[in-house]
This record gives sequence, structure tokens and C-alpha cells, in this order.
Amino acid sequence: MHDIDCTIIGGGIVGCAVAAELSSRGLTTVLLEMEDGLGRGTTSRNSEVAHGGMYYPNGSLKARFCVEGRRLLKAFCERADVGYRECGKLIVATTPDEVPELERLLALGTANGVEDLLLIDGPALLRLEPDVKACAALHSPRTGIVDAEGAARAWAHVVADHGGQVMTAAKVTGLWPAAGVWKVEISAAGPGRHEGWTHTSRIVVNAAGLWADRVAALAGVDVDARGWNQHLVKGNYFSIASAHHGRINRLVYPVPPRHGTSLGVHLCLDLGGQMKIGPDVEHLATDPRDSGFDWRVDPARRDAFCDGARRFLPWLEPDDLVPGMSGLRPKLVATGFHDFVVQREDGDLAGLINLVGIESPGLTSAAALAREVARLVEEMDAA
Ligand SMILES: Cc1cc2nc3c(=O)[nH]c(=O)nc-3n(C[C@H](O)[C@H](O)[C@H](O)COP(=O)(O)OP(=O)(O)OC[C@H]3O[C@@H](n4cnc5c(N)ncnc54)[C@H](O)[C@@H]3O)c2cc1C
Repeated sequence: MHDIDCTIIGGGIVGCAVAAELSSRGLTTVLLEMEDGLGRGTTSRNSEVAHGGMYYPNGSLKARFCVEGRRLLKAFCERADVGYRECGKLIVATTPDEVPELERLLALGTANGVEDLLLIDGPALLRLEPDVKACAALHSPRTGIVDAEGAARAWAHVVADHGGQVMTAAKVTGLWPAAGVWKVEISAAGPGRHEGWTHTSRIVVNAAGLWADRVAALAGVDVDARGWNQHLVKGNYFSIASAHHGRINRLVYPVPPRHGTSLGVHLCLDLGGQMKIGPDVEHLATDPRDSGFDWRVDPARRDAFCDGARRFLPWLEPDDLVPGMSGLRPKLVATGFHDFVVQREDGDLAGLINLVGIESPGLTSAAALAREVARLVEEMDAA
């Protein structure tokens, strides 16, 4: 395979959105995913919330791409017939001293361009959600839930519709700059298939999610010097017994914890009406990329989950909870805020675009990240 315009590494929601954007601009595009299906990484291990965008510092990429990305994601899902429901979200203050935090989020969200945010008092909350106990809430009616894997697959169809190639079970194992193009080495393994090849590509986009720092290193980026080593922080979920399904109609979040590592253990709904709570924050002793992934959820965490959620769901009992799924956040700092990294390389590495630290709200932001990559490609071509 020779003379491709763009190779995208990673068939998660971000890589699929990027490949769709670039192929629809007339660039020859190959999307490479090492698993035997699309969206099997973090894209299928998260809360599937299309976030509003009220948590992130004004002017940050997270704020910009989340607000723009949600509008684009919703419009795409409607066009492509992918599951999406604008169910709305409540961030609840369980004590009066948490209300100023809601006011801060209202101001920040408004500055970030989040639509229709409204601070409501206890009685108004009770009318919306009689089974949620809190003294006030920030209501974000535009927050939604989405079939994330479905969106990734639908974007891959857009790639194919524009003549691009989508290859699964195709792992990038080498990347070398060579006279103005990138040499890409791929090893492909699948049922009845074991082969490898190299092709050349003018542009390479690293959208490898949990592996993005390692793929950048493969291409020759000094990730230590850039501070790009991703720390994988686990988030666990517990499912809520089906007897309670339908009791609550909106996503319910606490005020965000001060450590800034997560938005706090919240009540999630999926498109099928199932309820779960999570994710918590579990710092791992070893890097699972070296020691092996263990997605199991420790049942011993149940009581801590129940105690946390009972602050706003007082009817929840420990026996209502069963261990659910887990996911991993690719964090650039162990605690606190760090923005997305979206970087076009130059010099010896020209032609490479790295997306690193694409944690939440990466799913919401996918289409906006894709537009940003397309802008960087245009910038590169104009240079
Ligand atoms: C617990 C949790 C909850 C979250 N909740 C939300 C939420 O509610 N809303 C939200 O907006 N965001 C949320 N996020 C974040 C969101 O899930 C991610 O930002 C998003 O899924 C990242 O997508 P991605 O395509 O970058 O990564 P991935 O989905 O991980 O895709 C990367 C792909 O690259 C492939 N790959 C890696 N290396 C190679 C290689 N060498 N060759 C070929 N392929 C390779 C991998 O197999 C993988 O499929 C959450 C994350 C977690 C962990």
C-alpha cells in the first residue's frame, strides 16, 4: 500500500471521527485498529454521557471541544440513526454549603457557552425527580446519553462511503519518518490471518487512547520530556437492581470532588433504561499495559459506593448493587486538571499529529477533536 494521505491509528470514537472528517474532505484515509472490532477500548467503558461542558476552565480545549462536540455528536447521531437521548442532568447540592459550588458551575458553564443551565431549589428538584434528595441542583437539560460504540461504527461507515479503508486486527508496530512521508509498519492478526506490511502515509494521526503515549514514543517523540506519560486511573461501576429502573429519568451527579480526578460517583442511565453508579477513582499499583488488564470490579467497594450515592439517593440499599464494568482514564497528571493535548509536530516529525490525554470529555468532544485535526492538516498543507 503506497501514497496514502492519512493514516489514523486507533479505532475508538476519536479515531473514527477523525477518519470520517479527513476522508470526507477528499483525503485518502486508512483507519487502523488493533482489536478485532471498533470502539472496544475506552469508548465502550465509560458513562456514555454527552456532557454539557460546565466543569472545564474557560478557554481550555476541553471546554471548547466539549461544547462544540456535543452539538456535533447529537446532530451526527440524528443523521446516522445512532442512539442518543437528551435526558438532561442534575448536579445536586446535598447540603447548603455546596450551593456556592453550583453557582460557580452555573457561571463557568454559561461562560463556556453551555445552553439552558438553570439553578433550581429543593421543591423544584422534587417536582422533576421525586426520588432524588437534595437542597438545590444545577439543571442541564441539554446533557444527553449516547451509544458510543454505535457512533464510532457509524463514523467508520462514513470513511468507507468516501472510499477510505477501515482495518481491524491491524496493529501499528513501527513508525518512521522517511523523506517527507511516514513509513507505517502494521502487523495484522485475525481468524485465519497472520501477516504484516508497511505503507507510506503523508500524515499520521495518533488517536491510540490508552496507548497514545507509547505510539508517540514509537514515532520518536520524547514523551518524558513532554510530560506525556499517561497514568491509567481505573474507574469502577456498580449496576443498580432492575427493580429500581425507571425511578429516575435524569443523570444525577454530586458536586465535583476537590481532587479534580473525576466528576464524582454519579447515577448513570443508559439508552435501555438501566441504571448504574460510578465511576470511582482507583489508583493502580502497576501500569496495566505492562502487568495485564484486570477489568473486574472488587465487590468490597460496594459499601463505599452505596454510602456515597445514598447522600442523594436515600432509598439505595447495598443489596441493590452488583459489580459492573470498569474503565481506565489516560491521565497526564495523577490529580487535578490537565487539558487535552492535540499537537501537530514539525521538523523531523512533520506530518504527525498526536492526541494525548484524551480522557473525559473525550467521547463528547470526538467530532470537535476531528475538526481540529482537519484544521491542523490544512495548516500543514498551507505551510
Ligand atoms: C470511567 C470513564 C468514564 C468516562 N465517561 C465519559 C463520559 O461520560 N463522557 C465523555 O465524554 N467521556 C467519558 N470518558 C472519556 C471517554 O470515554 C474517552 O475520552 C474516549 O472514549 C476516548 O476515545 P479514544 O478513541 O481516544 O480512545 P479508545 O476508545 O481507547 O480508542 C483508542 C483505540 O486505539 C487502539 N490502539 C491503540 N494502540 C494501537 C496501535 N498500536 N495500533 C492500532 N490500534 C491501536 C485501541 O485498541 C483502541 O481501540 C470516560 C472515561 C472513563 C475511563
